[in-house]
Amino acid sequence: MKPKVFITRQIPENDIKIIEKFYEVEIWNDPKAPPRDVLLEKIRDVDALVTLVTDKVNEELLENAPKLRIIAQYAVGYDNIDIDAATRRGIYVTNTPGVLTDATADLAFALLLAVARRIVEADTFVRSGEWKKSDVGWHPLMFLGYGLKGKTLGIIGFGRIGQALARRAKGFGMKIIYYSRTRKTEAEKEIGAEYVDFETLLKESDFISLHVPLTKETYHMIGERELKLMKPNAILINTSRGAVVDTNALIKALKEKWIAGAGLDVFEEEPYYNEELFKLKNVVLAPHIGSATYEAREGMAELVAKNLIAFAKG
Ligand code: NAD
Repeated sequence: MKPKVFITRQIPENDIKIIEKFYEVEIWNDPKAPPRDVLLEKIRDVDALVTLVTDKVNEELLENAPKLRIIAQYAVGYDNIDIDAATRRGIYVTNTPGVLTDATADLAFALLLAVARRIVEADTFVRSGEWKKSDVGWHPLMFLGYGLKGKTLGIIGFGRIGQALARRAKGFGMKIIYYSRTRKTEAEKEIGAEYVDFETLLKESDFISLHVPLTKETYHMIGERELKLMKPNAILINTSRGAVVDTNALIKALKEKWIAGAGLDVFEEEPYYNEELFKLKNVVLAPHIGSATYEAREGMAELVAKNLIAFAKG
């Protein structure tokens, strides 16, 4: 008899077919995450679970999962999973590193450009008819933003995505400084980046982009103190995890102009709604779409399938 897997969201059909060779597959076809009671019910009877970052895998869920042997996360970050609780029960946890690196670095850079050049504000201005209505037509002081060439980009977390972002920024003539838990001397030399301490990075960067995983150490790593150390022209980009930044402190910083703007793909709670933040013009927001390219999502599904099959084969 084949082991059973529950997949909490739609993934590409090809990969489901591959997984079906080894598993009896059940998929939650709704675009929204399965409600908690559904997940708690489904988990009772499965050997494997495919999860996304919004599926909370904690003690409560695992206590209801007597047969569960593997959790295959459809993402690189796995802060939604209580790894200790899984390990105690001998449950394997896999993720999908590497295949979404370029997509996420592209999005971080897209947000950086969008905030720096006020693209969303400008788009709204044109679409709303304000441009046509205004008698200015075109004014040399309209929608002024920040240039990138010669500016300093500070990267926090110099792993796969952080380094991929650095390579992109080099092409735009930016100076790269980084702070990471461990120094990456080879990547530093190859890319042309300089290692600095955390405070120096905060004080010297014109743009700061976050690429650390969410852990106890990185939770609210950017709070009031850190935002106050940043330059008034600094733009903060977060495509890592929402809780790396203290949102209330960020809103205060944006309102009181301690920093110039922010581009956010991730939020402390997801899905997210916050009128106070959404009213601010100097932020560009995205609904956690860092890895949302056809290429990355296919790569992630392939890896999930490979991980499940490797496990099934022992
Ligand atoms: P990675 O493991 O290659 O890089 C993470 C880097 O952070 C490492 O260099 C590590 O040394 C550093 N780091 C860890 N803890 C630190 C700390 N306390 N202080 C300073 N540096 C620290 O991971 P990656 O593939 O580059 O992904 C990074 C994160 O991006 C993921 O964990 C995930 O949360 C997030 N992510 C988001 C999306 C999205 O859709 N927005 C997509 C992919 C990944």
